[in-house]
Amino acid sequence: MNIEEKVFRHYPSAKTGADITENYLNLLEKEDKTDLKKMLFATSVCSDDVNVSTDFRRVLSRPFTMGGLGGLPYSGFTGMVAFSHHIPDGGDAFIFYGPHVGITEEGELGRMIRIGQKRLTNSCGALMLALERFQKGDDADTYVPQSVYYDYQQVQLEHSLMPFKYEISTSENPKKAITDFTYLTIDTQIKKLVKMSLREFQCERIFLLGGVIINTSEKFNDYVDVRNFDVIDAKNAKQFEPISILELVAFQNL
Ligand SMILES: [Zn+2]
Repeated sequence: MNIEEKVFRHYPSAKTGADITENYLNLLEKEDKTDLKKMLFATSVCSDDVNVSTDFRRVLSRPFTMGGLGGLPYSGFTGMVAFSHHIPDGGDAFIFYGPHVGITEEGELGRMIRIGQKRLTNSCGALMLALERFQKGDDADTYVPQSVYYDYQQVQLEHSLMPFKYEISTSENPKKAITDFTYLTIDTQIKKLVKMSLREFQCERIFLLGGVIINTSEKFNDYVDVRNFDVIDAKNAKQFEPISILELVAFQNL
């Protein structure tokens, strides 16, 4: 069984990072008629150096970095407003977000071999640490890191996932479950922050692309399991109703 079959066993709809990059940039340019040169790109993905599998940076300049450990948008309301103010005149906004999870050549989720290494390490390390603390029980000493002040992103990540602790711990594959719940958490937070900041956006559209990044070892492609693609009308500040384009033929043929 090759690595793709192993990935598909967990994420049947996943596509390679390179395909996702090409497909979505094409979609934005051809279907949505956006000018990629004027598009401001933001990410809310984990700080982990492994997260370069989608290569939007190759085409889109910058990004504005919203994410930290686990991929949560720690830059918050201030960050979203700053991002909204930086969009080039006549351009659009594009935010790519989501957690990441490693996969071994044997198909085990939550671990991977990193570039230049022979040993397996956790991916996402922050999520696997959160999971270990969840599985150790309710003892506050095992849950709360020694120094909150020096580890606030990890603390915030674990606090955000606490409502799902039981479901994560008792699921068939807790490593997959914690990744999925982190996706939902990031998705909720990004949309909430966009809603809060909507009046600040001077552009016409905000594109939101969310998914789970699946990290393989160096010799294979990384994958992305896309979970959401929304086009938000930034001029309609009275309500926040993302226009889903999931039904579009062009989307289905990606
Ligand atoms: Zn990570």
